[in-house]
Amino acid sequence: MAAKISFVGAGPGATDLITIRGARLLRHADVVIFAGSLVDKKLVHLYATKADIYDSAGMTLSEVITVMMDAFDSGREIVRLHTGDPSIYGAIQEQMEALDRLDIDYQVVPGVTSAFAAAAALKQELTLPELSQTVIITRMEGRTPVPEREQLSAIAQLGATMVIYLSVGMVEKVVDQLLQGAYTSATPAAVVCRASWDDEQIIQCTLSDLAEKVSEAGIDRQAMIIVGDVLAARREGLKAKSLLYDGGFSHGFREGHLA
Ligand code: SAH
Repeated sequence: MAAKISFVGAGPGATDLITIRGARLLRHADVVIFAGSLVDKKLVHLYATKADIYDSAGMTLSEVITVMMDAFDSGREIVRLHTGDPSIYGAIQEQMEALDRLDIDYQVVPGVTSAFAAAAALKQELTLPELSQTVIITRMEGRTPVPEREQLSAIAQLGATMVIYLSVGMVEKVVDQLLQGAYTSATPAAVVCRASWDDEQIIQCTLSDLAEKVSEAGIDRQAMIIVGDVLAARREGLKAKSLLYDGGFSHGFREGHLA
């Protein structure tokens, strides 16, 4: 029997950026518990036409689990809807552990995480040959503690592309810590606020004016900070072509021809 409880990634905002599987589960759902602070109500009402709807913003973990348990016991289909992808800062682990303890089965359906919606808004590849082949998903320490070895200043030593969640409200501290790593005040940066929503906002800058531009734009939440040299590739016309499509490069599907 298919799982009756599904943790579903809603995607970054736009109603058509949820997966087909996620939308189908919402259509069949009898109960939907959604993260009202980040998931658009429009999306919930568009797909979940027959469900009882709960906004988890004002609920505790045990209240969420009680709603799930009661619905499960009466044989109903339940969707727990999280923004973006549920595995990234989704706080799903504690819910899944509670269900494990109750011996209740569930499934997880991935979603488009907001970092990738931000990259799409910027029309930017995050991995460019020679510049960076690594993307770090991270956040600045806030009320949620971050392990000492993962402080922003420490991981900034790598100089890779970084996508920084949950931190735009502390942008000055972010810049300060990044400058203690491999980045300089000339390192390109971007902020995408509400990527894929109708009121999406984009800032393109460097670390030297990042904080100022964020404050000018009045952005203090629901925004992604992206830093790294990949962002300069188009701005400065740097050559960052991939070998995959280079005429002289052979791979499993194509013989290369040297010019
Ligand atoms: N699970 C979510 C992240 C939840 S944490 C995901 O995969 O995207 C919430 C943080 O995600 C916000 O502080 C912000 O940094 C980021 N975020 C969520 N939606 C966003 C959007 N549409 N545009 C930019 N950043 C967003």
